[in-house]
Amino acid sequence: MSNADTWVTEHFSIAGSEAEDLRFGFRTSSTLFEGRSDFQDVVVAQGPAYGRMLFLDGCMMTTERDEFVYHEMLAHVPMMAARRNTVVRNVLIIGGGDGGLAREVLRHDTVERVDMVEIDGMVVDVSRKFLPSIGSAFDDPRLNVLTEDGNAFIHRASPSTYDVILIDSADPIGPGIVLFQPPFYKAVLRALRPNGLVAAQGMSPWLQADGQRFMFGNLGRSFPFVSAFVATIPTYPGGQWVFALCAGEEVEPTEADPAAVGQIGTTQYYSAAVHKASFALPPFIANNTVAVARAARDEQ
Ligand code: SAM
Repeated sequence: MSNADTWVTEHFSIAGSEAEDLRFGFRTSSTLFEGRSDFQDVVVAQGPAYGRMLFLDGCMMTTERDEFVYHEMLAHVPMMAARRNTVVRNVLIIGGGDGGLAREVLRHDTVERVDMVEIDGMVVDVSRKFLPSIGSAFDDPRLNVLTEDGNAFIHRASPSTYDVILIDSADPIGPGIVLFQPPFYKAVLRALRPNGLVAAQGMSPWLQADGQRFMFGNLGRSFPFVSAFVATIPTYPGGQWVFALCAGEEVEPTEADPAAVGQIGTTQYYSAAVHKASFALPPFIANNTVAVARAARDEQ
C-alpha cells in the first residue's frame, strides 16, 4: 500500500487517433488494493475528490461519490419501464462485478432472483472488502453470483428466462468485444421473456463515437426495438454517458410505473421525470446511436 500523494491518470485517444489526446487525472491519498487477476489489473485507490475509486486496467470504473448515477439509471430505467407491462421477477446482470447494479435491482420488491455473471472474481472480492457502500448487496439471498464469461453463459441460458437483462460490461476492446456483437445480442434476446427489456452501458458520446456506432449497429441487427438514454457521470470521460434500451417488440420505455417508483424509496439521481427526460437525445447522440441501429435493421 502506498500512502504518498499520487495521481491515477486515464489516457485517451479520440476516435481514429493513435496518439494520446486526453488525460483524466484523479489525485489519490492512498492505494487500498493493487493486484492482477487472470483478466486485468485491479486497483482501489482513495482520493479527496471522489472517495474510493475502482480502476480496471487503468480505466476508471466507479467511485463512491458518483456511482449512484450509473447504477440507478442502468437499473431503474429498464426496471421501471418493464414493470409497466410485466412483473419483473428474474433479472440477469452480465458483468457488474462491483455489485452496485445488483444493489439497485434488488431494491425492487417484485425481484425474486438476480443472476450476476461476472468473469473476474477478484472484482467481486475487492468490491466487497474495499467498496462496501457499492458492494453492499452480495449477501442478499436473491443474488446468485456466477464467476464466468457472460458470453458463454448467455449461449447456455434457457429461452425466455429473464424479465430484464442488464449488460454492465467493459468497453468493446480486447476480450470484451464479444459482448457487443450480434451473436451475443441474439442470445440475450432469446433469453428474454415476453415484455422483457434489455439495457446496456453504451459509452461516451464525446470520446467513443466509433465504439457507439459499432455497438448500436449490432444492436439494430439483433433487436427489433432499440432506443437510448443518457446520464451525467462526472468521473467518466466527457461527463455524459449513453445507455441502450432494447426489446423484442416495439415498446414505450420513457414512462416509469408510478407504483414501482414509490416502492423503491429514495434515490439520488433517478426519478420518473429524469427517466422520461433521459430519452430526449441531443441530435449528435441520436444520429450516432438509435439512427445507426435503425439503418442497420433496415439494411437486413
Ligand atoms: N459497474 C461499473 C460502473 O459503475 O461503471 C462498471 C463495471 S465494469 C465496467 C465491467 C465489469 O464487467 C468488470 O467487472 C469486468 O470484469 C466484467 N466483464 C468484462 N468482460 C466480461 C465478460 N465477458 N463476462 C462477464 N463479465 C465481464
